[in-house]
Amino acid sequence: TLIAEIISVGTELLLGEIVDTNAAFLASELKNRGVTLYHKSVVGDNLGRVIETLRLALSRSDLVILGGGLGPTDDDLTREAISAAIGETPIVDDATLAHIRALFESRGRTFPDSNAKQAWRTSSTELLSNPIGTAPGWFVRKDGKLIVALPGPPREMKRMWAEQVLPRLPLPSRALWSTTLHTWGIGESHVAEHLGELTLQANPSVATYARRHGVDVRVAASAATSEEARALAVPVLATVEGKLSHFVYGRDDETLAGVVTEGLFSRGETVTSIEGGTGLLADLLSDARSEAYVGGAVLPAFEATEEEAAALAAQGRERATWCVVSLPSEARNLIAVSGPTFERTSSFEWPTDRRTGSERAAYGALALLLR
Ligand code: ATP
Ligand code: MG
Repeated sequence: TLIAEIISVGTELLLGEIVDTNAAFLASELKNRGVTLYHKSVVGDNLGRVIETLRLALSRSDLVILGGGLGPTDDDLTREAISAAIGETPIVDDATLAHIRALFESRGRTFPDSNAKQAWRTSSTELLSNPIGTAPGWFVRKDGKLIVALPGPPREMKRMWAEQVLPRLPLPSRALWSTTLHTWGIGESHVAEHLGELTLQANPSVATYARRHGVDVRVAASAATSEEARALAVPVLATVEGKLSHFVYGRDDETLAGVVTEGLFSRGETVTSIEGGTGLLADLLSDARSEAYVGGAVLPAFEATEEEAAALAAQGRERATWCVVSLPSEARNLIAVSGPTFERTSSFEWPTDRRTGSERAAYGALALLLR
């Protein structure tokens, strides 16, 4: 296992003037990737104390991540401290110096000589490019240890971590297990309300995504094996399903049309469709490739009343056990269903573009068949 340690450098952090959100971010990233974290420390902008903290960290950890202190000023001391701790002398990296100089010139600013130290590296140091700031990061491989220095500004730190550091780390192989639940009939903010604190945890994680076919909720966990990841995720998945039970119609590869037609097929029933517009409903039903779907009719879009929608649905039952109707229009969408056990018509307005309106109508019409 890889043992990591985080050192946040900065007097403002030490004195609590800013909160160490970078270390919190890094700790959760490490945890999710199976890296062990035993120590996290904060040290002020003092060369002796940063060196001392780094030496202690190197004596007990494989990977030491330093944050902050990569700026150009005299109290930005991370580079000096690393060089001293590993016994190497910094040199100026010419390409990096030219790059930083060009950055200044492109912004019409003169290049202060003090900034040259942002182009330093040592012989064991690989520089990590910083696409949204001036200071490159450091990735040091020395005597079997890894030292990473990241910029303090959170945006720069996070991007460098994801793009430059993670690919270089010897991470333990992790297995991921995830399931996505599909819901219909509930908006994303209401889903979030139902889920409450569940969406704040990291492993397993619970995340919502608004999709055309409704709001998806993904539950994901990572662990050493996929069995362990699954064991972590399953209880959370059950909780999520319990909280959203009225709205969940399927999971993963299941589609609304697929779930609906499978239900009908298992009862020996069939369904046909009638719609105005582009044939989206027929497309969704055909895609389900179920014998329960006997085909349908696509009419030019037209404005209809609820009565007309209900009459179309009733008429369609000459061809199948059930008929589902979708009539999207600019004014409002009408949907209807008719079958042996119930008939339903519903109309709704959606302040949106035509395409989205038709999608809402088609999915809404299919959802009438769920119950
Ligand atoms: P700069 O070039 O901006 O000086 P730096 O790499 O020297 O960058 P610091 O000077 O330590 O980094 O921090 C710059 C700013 O980044 C801080 O003022 C603060 O707003 C933010 N920051 C630094 N460290 C942290 C942290 N651990 N958590 C959250 N924010 C931080
Ligand atoms: Mg600074």
